[in-house]
Amino acid sequence: MVASVGGRLDVIVVGAGAAGLACAADLAARGLAVRLVEADASPGGRMRTDRVSGFTVDRGFQVFNTAYPQVRKRLDLRRLRLRRFTPAVLVATPRGIRRFTDPSRDLRGGKDLLAGRVAAPRDVLAVGALSARDVLEPTARLRSRPDTTTHVTLRKAGISEELIETFFRPFLSGVFLEEDLDTSARVFHLVWRTFLRGTHCLPADGIQAVPLQLAAALPSGVMLTEAPVESLTDGGVRLADGTEVDARCVVVAAGPRAAARLLPGLEIPAGRTVSTVYHAAERSPLTEPTLVVDARRRFLNTCVLTEVHPRFAQDGRALISTSVLGDLSPERHGRLLAALAEVYGVDTATWETVHRTTVPDALPAMPPPHPLTRTTRVRTGRYVCGDHRATGSLQGALASGARAAREVLADLDGGRNQP
Ligand SMILES: Cc1cc2nc3c(=O)[nH]c(=O)nc-3n(C[C@H](O)[C@H](O)[C@H](O)COP(=O)(O)OP(=O)(O)OC[C@H]3O[C@@H](n4cnc5c(N)ncnc54)[C@H](O)[C@@H]3O)c2cc1C
Repeated sequence: MVASVGGRLDVIVVGAGAAGLACAADLAARGLAVRLVEADASPGGRMRTDRVSGFTVDRGFQVFNTAYPQVRKRLDLRRLRLRRFTPAVLVATPRGIRRFTDPSRDLRGGKDLLAGRVAAPRDVLAVGALSARDVLEPTARLRSRPDTTTHVTLRKAGISEELIETFFRPFLSGVFLEEDLDTSARVFHLVWRTFLRGTHCLPADGIQAVPLQLAAALPSGVMLTEAPVESLTDGGVRLADGTEVDARCVVVAAGPRAAARLLPGLEIPAGRTVSTVYHAAERSPLTEPTLVVDARRRFLNTCVLTEVHPRFAQDGRALISTSVLGDLSPERHGRLLAALAEVYGVDTATWETVHRTTVPDALPAMPPPHPLTRTTRVRTGRYVCGDHRATGSLQGALASGARAAREVLADLDGGRNQP
């Protein structure tokens, strides 16, 4: 057991995103004197929600999956008041809309799938075999297999190029924020397992309800907001206002770019940029809470958020979220509205643009070989955690934060007063 020493802090955690929150919680639970310092006015990092003219809009569309092991361990799902998406994806193809469904949960759609009306029977069998293996295989075995790209692993599983183009590429582009399917196959298999085991939902108050619940569970006084860290010092950190805070250890959980600035020489992966635009319409263009993706790559995904939860719009209108890779210029927005008109079969000229947001570094690139998790130790007394040290997801960020706490505890326990 590690005991805190005198008035000096044991650990400063920089950044109150999912990783920093998990790390601070685990260290505080072990009796350490911890301070979590966050640059922004509230915790959450990339999981933030804004209220704009009565609409609830996340800072970039994201979904919450109930199957993440760290989520099950740390969160009270009931208090998040989750609302589900349907266990299906609609794909806009040049030949019309096709519904891909999880036959174990959606009997109606499953009938079409199993009868070969959506994909060739050969493909249905190949996806079934891949899914069965992903659900059952222990993570350790998955980790030890040689890695390749998602595209190669799908082909090796016997899935045809046709199904890859009509389902996997459009669907996974929105998950990995890249269209080439060159993300690590290990990451794909983990993600696919999570989809099959869990449920896709959104909290009634938006995605930031997740980090807010984690922050509320911290002992009072642990978190300090509006306190950007300017630099790391020999004894701790210097805040932007010049205040120096000393601690035996510093854990940088500030997101990849800020981490590289605070820890010169740290290698970080390339980042993926995504833009999301929110439109309001008098009527819902699709009366079900289902994700729509585009085989023609004009957008990553779109959905009617008010079908997931009516309270995302206060005035009774429909709120539609649409995401694209990269930036969204006015010209691109015009083309996007035309594509949405075709896909939803409605006139989008009357849609009001409620909000738009671009998130650089929304996710880290995860090319093969991808280790799934990496040590957080940088040098004596200095640690780094976050999704960029694990997988680009809520699960990856929480797991990396937990790993940082374990490594800090091990070092403090083993070395007594070093670091
Ligand atoms: C648009 C979008 C869609 C996504 N979709 C999904 C999804 O569907 N499913 C999923 O699982 N994941 C999704 N993700 C990924 C997930 O949100 C992230 O992996 C996770 O939130 C990363 O957490 P983190 O703690 O590693 O980093 P961050 O959330 O980036 O947290 C870093 C924190 O450090 C703070 N900080 C930075 N610099 C300083 C400083 N100098 N001093 C003090 N504080 C500082 C920041 O303000 C921030 O609060 C999505 C992300 C985005 C942006």
